[in-house]
Amino acid sequence: MHPLELPFSRAGHDRAAHRRTEPDLVGRLRADPSTRVLALHGGRLAVVGQEIPRATLLPPAALLDAPVDASWAFLGEADGTAYLSVVLPDGDETLPPGAAAWAGLRQIVLGQSGALAAAEPDVVLVHGLSVAAVALAGWHSTHRRCGRCGEPTAVVQAGWARHCPVDERETYPRTDPAVIMAVVDDADRILLGHAATWPAGRFSTLAGFVEAGEALEDTVRREVAEETGVVVGTSPGDVVYRGSQAWPFPASLMLGFRARAVATAVQTDDEEVTDARWFTRDELAAAAASGEVGLPGRHSIARALIEEWFGRELPAR
Ligand SMILES: [Zn+2]
Repeated sequence: MHPLELPFSRAGHDRAAHRRTEPDLVGRLRADPSTRVLALHGGRLAVVGQEIPRATLLPPAALLDAPVDASWAFLGEADGTAYLSVVLPDGDETLPPGAAAWAGLRQIVLGQSGALAAAEPDVVLVHGLSVAAVALAGWHSTHRRCGRCGEPTAVVQAGWARHCPVDERETYPRTDPAVIMAVVDDADRILLGHAATWPAGRFSTLAGFVEAGEALEDTVRREVAEETGVVVGTSPGDVVYRGSQAWPFPASLMLGFRARAVATAVQTDDEEVTDARWFTRDELAAAAASGEVGLPGRHSIARALIEEWFGRELPAR
């Protein structure tokens, strides 16, 4: 198979991880007027743009009034510009000057219309910075204390680790791997499922979290079997990696696969997945065009996996 085209599988910035231990890196970059800052509050980003919101890249001067307990991080650099994020404390929702609104990352991602040129360098840059900033902020918000002894921890490494002063232990942002798969049978049909929590008619690829001590290929087979009763093969090539997408809601990494079904009878679990159907290309094209079936968003890995099987873009929702 050719490489899968995923619009956001590469970032537009260099994380420059080697700089995180420079003395007072964040303080020095805050004093540099060429630095740009992404501001967050309550898990949402300060954005500009109405229909297609995108994170505002603010000069440090816009955040001179940031409270002392705001939490800063060094996101990286691109073309000589350094990028920081700042999480403003709960309570005060005042927008920094230059920002139009607070918006969640989900709203930003889903707001990107099909017309948006995801290949544009600045779109990729802002998206990559936004995903990293939200993922990092989410981790800090739930890891303020040491997981071993319970003491409050301090932010170190320019926002990329927390340090426990009691047992000298450092913890790092965690990412939870999840698999997402296009299951295809030998008649070249695709299996799509409908989750209990989705609007009527919405169908997408199956997905699920990797369990402790589990290989990705086994997760693919287990999740497909649990949710739909369909059996994915164990031969070489029956589960093939296709690409990934960061999905910080709150901390997932979606790992995309193509999987080959060797038994196709559908029996949904009726808990997570309440319906699952095999579609030929003609059936899916007709169902999507008529609105009978709603497909995942234009820039999602689910959409990319479905369209890779389909062979071209499917009609928009
Ligand atoms: Zn500790």
